[in-house]
Amino acid sequence: MGLDDRAEVEVAIIGSGPAGLTAAVYTARADLRPVVLEGEPSSTSDQPGGQLMLTTDVENYPGFPDGVMGPELMQRFRAQAVRFGAQIHTVKASRVDFSEQPYGIWTDDPAAAEPTLRASTVIVSTGAQSIMLGLDREIELVGHGLSTCATCDGFFFRDQHIAVVGGGDSAMEEATFLTRFASRVTVIHRRDALRASKIMQQRAFDNERIDFMWNSVVEEYLGESVLTGLRIRDTQTGEASVLDVTGCFIAIGHRPNTDLFTGHLAMKDNGYLITEPDSTRTAVEGVFACGDVQDDYYRQAVTAAGTGCMAAIEAERYLESRH
Ligand code: NAP
Repeated sequence: MGLDDRAEVEVAIIGSGPAGLTAAVYTARADLRPVVLEGEPSSTSDQPGGQLMLTTDVENYPGFPDGVMGPELMQRFRAQAVRFGAQIHTVKASRVDFSEQPYGIWTDDPAAAEPTLRASTVIVSTGAQSIMLGLDREIELVGHGLSTCATCDGFFFRDQHIAVVGGGDSAMEEATFLTRFASRVTVIHRRDALRASKIMQQRAFDNERIDFMWNSVVEEYLGESVLTGLRIRDTQTGEASVLDVTGCFIAIGHRPNTDLFTGHLAMKDNGYLITEPDSTRTAVEGVFACGDVQDDYYRQAVTAAGTGCMAAIEAERYLESRH
């Protein structure tokens, strides 16, 4: 069924990572016939399936004792949602209007007078993305030596020398965590002073497995199909060098995919959506937010799926209360 055939729905879900598709499974099984706008293919994590589409082995998602590939896991989420009747459309939302019920969602020309879809409830699950360095072959190498998540991938680098890029709390946290596995962790930072809080800095300085390359930027990822090293440039002297590492963790921050909601939903200073404590409710009645778009702390597939389930149950109860 095309989107044009369904001008008004009970539940619209924007985004199709673990949060959105879990919300789809639950609302479909509650017979609410959700419509999912899954996004459009792109080379970043802002695409159907979200960040797991850029991951190889996922070993920490419960229920898969032998691990599962990120894209396969998302294919399974999707198939499960479809099995219960979720309508999934490979389009991006281009504009929303939450000023009156049923809420409007545009998928094509945002200047069009009428929205593509109207929905009594909207579940926002557009996710977040890791900020990357923007170097050649970066996306190809994610999962092949390059990573943005120490919790997810640290285990694969036992007894190896790896690098962490960044100088904030995330970089210090990742570097410290990675010393559980790696024999040596080199933090590469573009300045000569860290941005991280003093306590996180001290923890990293005190860790004998961590060393620092100051005033240094990564210029090139080395290796064909897997990462074998980094070409580094000293920002003071201009000198180039090669750091032989088998892993590199990029920890220069995350960006939530919330541009669409500017002026419509309340956001924290860092752009993440604000939800009520222990809930996925936003300040707009009938609009719920789940997954990484509202989580700047846990950022795990399993926690995203958990909040997707919460959003579905809250949307269902909200609709019940209105009827
Ligand atoms: P952040 O504080 O924005 O730090 C980003 C770091 O990456 C900075 O050191 C920055 O360098 C560097 N960077 C940015 N763009 C770069 C580029 N293109 N190339 C090279 N380096 C680049 O981000 P974050 O560390 O993810 O932290 C985000 C927020 O979460 C912060 O408020 C932080 O305190 C909080 N957080 C807290 C904890 C904790 O308390 N346990 C853990 C993680 C995060 P410059 O310093 O030169 O700008």
